[in-house]
Amino acid sequence: MIKKYKIAFSIAGAILLCVAIGAVSYIFTHSDKSLNINNVQEKNGIVELAVIGSGPAGWAAAIYGARGGFSTVIFTGAEPGGLLVKTTQIENYPGYISVMGPVLMEMMKKQATNVGVQVINDAVARIDSSTWPYKIETDGGTIIHALAVIVATGATPRKLSIPGEERYWGSGVTSCAICDAPFFKGEDVVVIGGGDSAIEEALQIAPYAKQVTILVRKSTMRAAPSMQERLKGYANIAVRYNVSVQEIKGDDHRITDIQVLNHETKRTEMMHISGVFLAIGHDPNTVLLKNMVRMNAAGYVTVKERTQQTSVPGIFAAGEVEDDYYRQAIVAAGHGASAALDATKFLHDIGWNESLKKQLGAQLFSVKSDKSEEKEPEKQAPKLPAKKVETITTQEAFNRLIQSNELVIVDFFTPSCTLCKQMFPIIESVAKNTNNVSFAKLDTLQVPSIAQQFFIQKVPCMLAFRNGSLVGRYNTIMNEQQLRDTLKQLEIV
Ligand code: NDP
Repeated sequence: MIKKYKIAFSIAGAILLCVAIGAVSYIFTHSDKSLNINNVQEKNGIVELAVIGSGPAGWAAAIYGARGGFSTVIFTGAEPGGLLVKTTQIENYPGYISVMGPVLMEMMKKQATNVGVQVINDAVARIDSSTWPYKIETDGGTIIHALAVIVATGATPRKLSIPGEERYWGSGVTSCAICDAPFFKGEDVVVIGGGDSAIEEALQIAPYAKQVTILVRKSTMRAAPSMQERLKGYANIAVRYNVSVQEIKGDDHRITDIQVLNHETKRTEMMHISGVFLAIGHDPNTVLLKNMVRMNAAGYVTVKERTQQTSVPGIFAAGEVEDDYYRQAIVAAGHGASAALDATKFLHDIGWNESLKKQLGAQLFSVKSDKSEEKEPEKQAPKLPAKKVETITTQEAFNRLIQSNELVIVDFFTPSCTLCKQMFPIIESVAKNTNNVSFAKLDTLQVPSIAQQFFIQKVPCMLAFRNGSLVGRYNTIMNEQQLRDTLKQLEIV
């Protein structure tokens, strides 16, 4: 009997010990993260509000933050302006009968800088939420400490994951009609998807292509009836229902055919086309928040009901990164504003006030003086003699340039491509500080023969040459750090 009691007591003791250890470790780990105002005094490069992402949610959050009197920075990310810069006419944003997507984004940016938002043209590499103020580090090496963070990183266009898609990405497969439609003059192309984007893409391509066929996997389109109405009157746009693309085939340089499965007949057929435009929805950009905040089954950030608060205090989410339901620019902007108001309440609740802010003085981050705590060595490197980016307008000039025995980077663009315009200042800035590399830009519509020679069907596209040979091809938009890293790799080649 006594033995039984002894065993029971030792089990109970062990359980109590485990609970005690658990409680201590909980308090320890959470006190490390605790929102202790005194922590602020130990840091440099402090901002009250950091906004990550520069779509409608990001700009709205930043505008509300700065107008609320907070020192506010916005990190524009690798694709400033978000998805709206790839859109043309917007007719459902209140206040505008009709406005071009890139124009609307530019106006949001102007409004934000006008109210004192500090703009950092860089992408955030990581957020450290294990200490507070939260540490944010960019690809370019800037580090700040933020009292509150609003993540508005949006979503990325989905891919099909079928054979041939990666192989011909940029050589016939694209997700940006406004950028790449001019490359398909007089050709037959398909748009895949049945939403508003598919219709918008088809309308953007129709003035260039001979025939545009929208391939919808179901028997109906998800697009709004008003959008479907817009297709009427376009003789060169057709819609095919109940079909899925299984494979993209080509001649190694460009697309020649796609294999399509007809769900009604269960038969496959080949379609002879030269362009595939994807419009099959988006995935939320949550990589910065992985293992940090709660997300739903579809991977969208979960926010507390009627607020933009994530599961981590002081970190908020707004726009398509958390909204898998409405996915509208105006809703994203509204959520951005709500997030800034939630951040305001959070700062007040933890006891943050004007007199504490005043004490910070030189500890506050400023883009001009850039008092971030640490810097990448490259940022402090001595300035080299300025190097210009040449504009190539003829085949002869191009041939001459690429014969150089130093590395030559040629940036291919089209005048209507907004992402291309975003690359110009990045290339110019890197060119200024880079020796032994020549930079040039080339309007592919002005010298189409060169684009054809290198099978360029997607811009922006950067080609790297040395001694007349192609040594690199890049179809993605890069920030300064990524471009510098690419050049470093090419120098080794
Ligand atoms: P949606 O998610 O609305 O539509 C995606 C479409 O792609 C659906 O038809 C879906 O088919 C289809 N799809 C998904 N995966 C595949 C696949 N693997 N193969 C074939 N088809 C596939 O995305 P959108 O980008 O069109 O729109 C996103 C949001 O942006 C929406 O809210 C829309 O209203 C808005 N928008 C508004 C515009 C405007 O007002 N001017 C313009 C563009 C977008 P299924 O239906 O079978 O699931």
